[in-house]
Amino acid sequence: QCVNACPCGALRVRTERGKVFNAINDPSKTVVAFVAPAVRSIISSHFGVTYDEASPFMAGLLKKLGFDKVFDFTFAADLTIVEETTEFLTRVESKGVMPQFTSCCPGWVNYVERKYPEIIPHLSTCKSPQMMMGATVKNHYSKLAGIDKKDLYVVSIVPCIAKKFEAYRPEFAPEGIRDVDAVITSSEMLKMADLKFIETKDIVPQEFDEPYKQVSGAGILFGASGGVAEAALRMAVEKLTGKALTDHLDFEEIRGFEGVKEATVEADGAKVRVAVISGLHNAEPIVERIIKGEEVGYDLIEVMACPGGCICGAGHPVPEKIDSLEKRQSVLVNIDKTSKYRKSQENPDILRLYKEFFGEANSHLAHELLHTHYSPVFGTCSCDNTLKKADSAFKT
Ligand code: SF4
Repeated sequence: QCVNACPCGALRVRTERGKVFNAINDPSKTVVAFVAPAVRSIISSHFGVTYDEASPFMAGLLKKLGFDKVFDFTFAADLTIVEETTEFLTRVESKGVMPQFTSCCPGWVNYVERKYPEIIPHLSTCKSPQMMMGATVKNHYSKLAGIDKKDLYVVSIVPCIAKKFEAYRPEFAPEGIRDVDAVITSSEMLKMADLKFIETKDIVPQEFDEPYKQVSGAGILFGASGGVAEAALRMAVEKLTGKALTDHLDFEEIRGFEGVKEATVEADGAKVRVAVISGLHNAEPIVERIIKGEEVGYDLIEVMACPGGCICGAGHPVPEKIDSLEKRQSVLVNIDKTSKYRKSQENPDILRLYKEFFGEANSHLAHELLHTHYSPVFGTCSCDNTLKKADSAFKT
């Protein structure tokens, strides 16, 4: 088995449904689920609910499955935007390494570490939203709720197989306790509902739990290609101009299914040039030009491994037709349009978390818990150290 066949490092597909059911049935554990923005895009079509019913329906489904607390992963998308955009603006000001690549897709991060380690300095140091959420729940929520970290079992529910590998990276198990204990895909979540004979009529829609309940429309957009860049632009433009962004919140030119999209945003003399790439092969020409030292004409580059972004993740049910993908995207866009907060930096729960815990964006504590480092992985067979360590962690 060689990861060369799968540049995302996602070949080791494992189901953790059994582990999660065991944790739910263990009275000594508080079992927490957090669920990614893109998962609601399939809830809508699978259960036949409208876009505005998808989030409360999903929270109700997870409670019915037996999770003690259900948090919205979109909260971590908002946290990622505040950290990553602050890092971007610091690089601009200090003339740091540019362009900055996003780092929220573990498939893309694995690809860089294996195939293009020369561009590691261009990658944002931000952890992915999954690992930011895990570190926040294990370090902030455990204190707030008075639960020992060892008794808190954290489950991430995502459309992504690469995130299974990511959760087992040794650096995400400080002091031997993993930040994310198990990762299940949206397809596995639906299977769990089948195994428990849960039907649509059994599900009572409800709100996500405190203290990560409020989320922004910008964070919801993370589930589709262009969403990370769009959310970052909504913050970067405000910070660069010093004025609140009240209109032109929609950057439609970077949405959709094309492999490479771009936008240049100019406001009050400030200019941000963005490229949005989905599908790893589409990143190669730009990456190779950067390695040659050429100016590529972008400041911020979003890369998502799956064509169209996480709504097309391999952990989702396979769409029968392309219009299913468009429908998935429209669920997210409609939720954003009708959200009370449409900018990550305005999410009141995010602001409170900084005030009470992290201090400020990119603070020392934020760097400790929300940022990471990357290492070149030389050799592409399964005997490399990172994979070996991840495998042995999985067995424990
Ligand atoms: Fe995972 Fe694909 Fe989303 Fe990347 S784009 S985070 S590989 S689902």
